[in-house]
Amino acid sequence: MLKRVAFLGLGIMGSAMARRLLDRGFDLSVWNRSACRADELVNAGARIAATPAQAAHGADAVIAMLADDEASRAVWLGEAGALAAMDRGTLAIDSGTLTVQWVRELGTRAAEHAVDFLDAPVTGSKPQAEQGTLRFLVGGAAAALERASTLFAAMGREQVHVGPIGSGALLKLINNFMCGVQLASLGEAMAMAQRSGLDLRRTADVLAAGSPGSPIVKMVVERMVARDYTPNFLVPLMVKDLTYALETFAAEGIELADARAARERFIEAAAAGFQDQDIAAVIEPLRRD
Ligand code: NAP
Repeated sequence: MLKRVAFLGLGIMGSAMARRLLDRGFDLSVWNRSACRADELVNAGARIAATPAQAAHGADAVIAMLADDEASRAVWLGEAGALAAMDRGTLAIDSGTLTVQWVRELGTRAAEHAVDFLDAPVTGSKPQAEQGTLRFLVGGAAAALERASTLFAAMGREQVHVGPIGSGALLKLINNFMCGVQLASLGEAMAMAQRSGLDLRRTADVLAAGSPGSPIVKMVVERMVARDYTPNFLVPLMVKDLTYALETFAAEGIELADARAARERFIEAAAAGFQDQDIAAVIEPLRRD
């Protein structure tokens, strides 16, 4: 039974996921690079650690939810990193959106420490993290997933066993490549309507109700109409996901032309001052007011 859990990375997603674990009775220690982001969790009963290693010490399972490969490497393997502090036979999980190459390397390092490892990125965003309805895309051994299932059930509604270590990361990059392309095209479509003087409310309703109305289009188009860019998913993280997808598929000889074009749109939004805003802001550099 997993009881003592360490959670590393308390950003938009990590803070909501850690809160679910705490509310479901797990004995939780937390760590975040900027310690102030742990305040709410500490007030609710979590223990704050000074380093990833301190958080991981004595834990049955350690979960990381960090921005990118660089952050994940630093937190697992860097100075006072979590992995070296974990006991043999415990469980390490990384739920960030990371490269296949990196999670495979991390899996190898975990095995050297006799620690089970799962790459378990998620689909769903801030609201799903808060409601505990994320979908985990899990790469790793079935037995490790079985052990982790109470944790995943506390934070999500579904655990998809994709295959060996790295396969969760791969499917997540495919998923987000499609999300990024849809949102870049939605930004272009809505900007075209806006510049041409069409009613944006009516345009949004038609797109959402018709064939283009995927779940992400339905959600984000409302934010574009309201110009509400309160972050659920930050613009630079989409640039990162599309970059990882491009690199991963280039290694297979596939040029993701649509991902490259979409990535440019998110880079433009970041350069236009929306780097701390939600991905719905991809429309902004294209609008004419
Ligand atoms: P976020 O709010 O930007 O949080 C990023 C986290 O990474 C923060 O805890 C941050 O610490 C930490 N971090 C960044 N660089 C670091 C470094 N060099 N060393 C240590 N810690 C570092 O991002 P998020 O939205 O929670 O996303 C987290 C992960 O989930 C990303 O991989 C993202 O792509 C993925 N994801 C996001 C969503 C979404 O809708 N938001 C959905 C699915 C998956 P500080 O607080 O100190 O900056």
